[in-house]
Amino acid sequence: MVRNVANLVPPYKLDAGYHGVSSALEYAVCFLEVENIIIMGHSGCGGIGGLMEMAKGKEVGEFIGKWVNIAAPARDKVLRDYADESPEKQARACEKEAILISLKNLLTFPWVRERVANGLLHLHGWYYNIATGQLKYYNEDSAAFEVLVERYSTTLLNAREGAS
Ligand SMILES: [Zn+2]
Repeated sequence: MVRNVANLVPPYKLDAGYHGVSSALEYAVCFLEVENIIIMGHSGCGGIGGLMEMAKGKEVGEFIGKWVNIAAPARDKVLRDYADESPEKQARACEKEAILISLKNLLTFPWVRERVANGLLHLHGWYYNIATGQLKYYNEDSAAFEVLVERYSTTLLNAREGAS
């Protein structure tokens, strides 16, 4: 498990930088030979919040800014598609879009791409709503995040809303 700011996977890049996430990915895929990779985002993400703030010209730190900028295309898409929505709704949408960026970036790693093409590795995008306890997954067919475990999520939501 790799935990990082805004749960991001950077694109494949062989350069002089220090690549902690890519190293962990390489170890998991090439040495442990995992069969599934889950990119798990969450609501109220501070990293994505920082990314949204950067669009307003705010400084978010000399390392954080460059890091969360991996998801800049997600932010730009959300600001276009949800232009009239509240900053909160935009942030929630960006948290989900950023997961798709990481999934896309995973496929820039040749040994990920190859295993996915051969059916040896499966990629998943999950989104955890901390407020409701609801877990969603990205459904490629519907191009939307859908409830992963219907029964459990419904029970939780009903409990929260005071229904029996
Ligand atoms: Zn976060």
